[in-house]
Amino acid sequence: MIAAAEGRRPITLALSKGRIFDETLPLLAEAGITVNEDLGSTRKLIISTSDPDLRIIIVRASDVPTYVQYGAADLGVAGKDVLYEHEGIHPAGLYQPLDLEIARCRLSVAVPAGFDYEAAVYQGARLRVATKYVEAAREHFAAKGVHVDIIKLYGSMELAPLVGLADAIVDLVSTGSTLRANHLVAVEDIMSISSRLIVNQAALKTRRERIQPLIDAFRRAVAD
Ligand code: ATP
Ligand code: MG
Repeated sequence: MIAAAEGRRPITLALSKGRIFDETLPLLAEAGITVNEDLGSTRKLIISTSDPDLRIIIVRASDVPTYVQYGAADLGVAGKDVLYEHEGIHPAGLYQPLDLEIARCRLSVAVPAGFDYEAAVYQGARLRVATKYVEAAREHFAAKGVHVDIIKLYGSMELAPLVGLADAIVDLVSTGSTLRANHLVAVEDIMSISSRLIVNQAALKTRRERIQPLIDAFRRAVAD
């Protein structure tokens, strides 16, 4: 990237579509920043805001840390789940100043209703666990001393036990209605999840006069 162009580009905030975008908007609004597009209708991936020096880029939730780590975005909002899975691969260069307390849920183990999870664990059974959260799941079962075969999925984890792909799943749970609809029950919580503000450490050093006020504004909005 050319240094001159880099110096001029607006501060860039990476968000994912859906709950993170929806729940970050009110925090930006409290900082006096509004978005110049309706995300429901636009196909744009770069969105300007009422602050000419701040733009938003729309990326996949699990890609937010990557954009921030490489400095293509100065800041981002990412779930603790996403950070946890990402950190094993590229730990360096990300500063996490703030828990935004949005997109709250839990990372849980769930099994088909009627499956005696405690007994299976007690008997030392080897469990097949389907999940998108391979790192967190591996850590969790290793710490418990439970032998597992982890099957990596990219979505619709609830289906796996229903069709014999797995004994259990590790997935995000908020109300539990998706689990209930698929006759699954949460049997163990692994961690509570919320979304964090993440900042590129180098950008914070070189553009602190523009980035620090944004972090401060987010902090005030969270406190309210
Ligand atoms: P993609 O659909 O692009 O693979 P994703 O499913 O992780 O990504 P979202 O469903 O928008 O994307 O979730 C984004 C973040 O919101 C998650 O990383 C998590 O932190 C949080 N989240 C996910 N599901 C819930 C939920 N049911 N309740 C509250 N927060 C959630
Ligand atoms: Mg999703």
